Amino acid sequence: MKFHITEVSLNKKLGAMSCSSSSRDTCPPSCSLKQLMLPDGSEREGPCYANGFHTAMHWDQVDNGKRGVNFTSFIEKLSLMIPVPRFRGQQVGDLPGKDNKLDKEKCIKYADTVRRHRHPFTYTHYPVTPRAALDEEVEYNGVAYRLKLPKVGAALAAWNKAIISRMMRNYTVNVSCDSLNQVDEAVALGLPAVVAVPRGTPKVSSTPEGVRCVQCPATWDKDTNCANCGGTKGPLCWRKDRDYAITFPAHGTWRRLTEKILTAVSKGEE
Ligand code: SF4
Repeated sequence: MKFHITEVSLNKKLGAMSCSSSSRDTCPPSCSLKQLMLPDGSEREGPCYANGFHTAMHWDQVDNGKRGVNFTSFIEKLSLMIPVPRFRGQQVGDLPGKDNKLDKEKCIKYADTVRRHRHPFTYTHYPVTPRAALDEEVEYNGVAYRLKLPKVGAALAAWNKAIISRMMRNYTVNVSCDSLNQVDEAVALGLPAVVAVPRGTPKVSSTPEGVRCVQCPATWDKDTNCANCGGTKGPLCWRKDRDYAITFPAHGTWRRLTEKILTAVSKGEE
């Protein structure tokens, strides 16, 4: 696993603020946007937004060590930074972990170090509730891909949930969901949730269980980014006690593929 700190981001969606990146091997297999299987059994990368051209170039350099450093060096750099007003973890990649299991020691160390910065927040696709294995066809551009996601047992989900709850003392960890059902499950556990949704979803919508969903303002207001989102009350994704989930409409080159995957995940959960 490799990690990187950008002290002042040039990313338009983030604005001028500090953020971190993690290598691709931190991403758990339960993320539905990570990979797809082709009809011949080989795999291709999924439509994760981080595989977009410019972000992917940065991510490659985190992976290959040109930018990425090991966890110890990452924590050292984080602890030596002048405290910043806002810190967004994992602009690409995920929390320290392997397969679908968070690394307890590293995650807690990370959260306890990032606390010196004001308004720190991050995201994770590590599963916090049990899930059945999923195997659904996703047809895209004439190719019948298969979306295969592994089963997540109750003990593993509880392990991840306990680590995230501990991290939340010092670091807001948003559970990245791929369906509205997953939002309901995360919120029922008392965790803040964000979710990818099809384009055209209303700015304010709700889940089957009635959790309000509010679209990230940076996706519809060109003057909003993570560096100014929420004003003096702090960025929406940092507000761990908020009573709403945040939605991110599918966009970019792989929008249609992303939407088909999200539909397949919801169908598989029925
Ligand atoms: S809701 Fe605010 S903090 Fe969260 S991603 Fe959007 S702009 Fe950034």
